[in-house]
Amino acid sequence: MALAFADAAARLIKIGQRFDSRGWVLGTSGNFSVVLDEEPLRLAITRSGTQKGELTASDILEVGDDASSIGTTVGSPSAETRLHVAIVHARPAAAVLHTHSIWSTQMSDRFVRQGGVAIQGYEMLKGLSGVTTHEHREFIPILENDQDMVRLAERVTVTLQERPDCHAFLLRRHGLYTWGDDLAQARRHIEIFEFLLETSGRMLAMEPRAK
Ligand SMILES: [Zn+2]
Repeated sequence: MALAFADAAARLIKIGQRFDSRGWVLGTSGNFSVVLDEEPLRLAITRSGTQKGELTASDILEVGDDASSIGTTVGSPSAETRLHVAIVHARPAAAVLHTHSIWSTQMSDRFVRQGGVAIQGYEMLKGLSGVTTHEHREFIPILENDQDMVRLAERVTVTLQERPDCHAFLLRRHGLYTWGDDLAQARRHIEIFEFLLETSGRMLAMEPRAK
């Protein structure tokens, strides 16, 4: 069923306020989208260069399958719109959320040689869709950052095909992407991953350094 644009905008504004209060979208970083209609694909997405804690309805745009603006809102959609479209095509996802937190940035660099961050044994893992036990092993792939969004979107598509079970990925020294069946689930996934990445990062920092 199609989601009304005004309703979608109101929900994205609230998410911006919530994530900003946690310091996950400082500067004008991060971007959020939600599917308005599947066929043909239409997304509501945050405008480029906006403070996510201070979004208004005029900061939310409607875009089509080719990532170009098709609505009445003035301005350019997020530069990373193509990544949102790629995720929606690769997963049964109706919402995509992206943060630039300190911990996701640090962990994306620390584990780049391993190709991703593996997290296991935490109760909070059960907040991920379909996960029922803390024994679940979640692998969060890390992709090199890139300013060429066409090329990066292709790599996102390939990564999500290679890792059909992953709930998120990291862009190196950049941030976290996750998604959900709806905005509430995507928001929960951001909160779970931010918790797990910060906890894992702090645990590493507490360990004595090898001599
Ligand atoms: Zn970004």
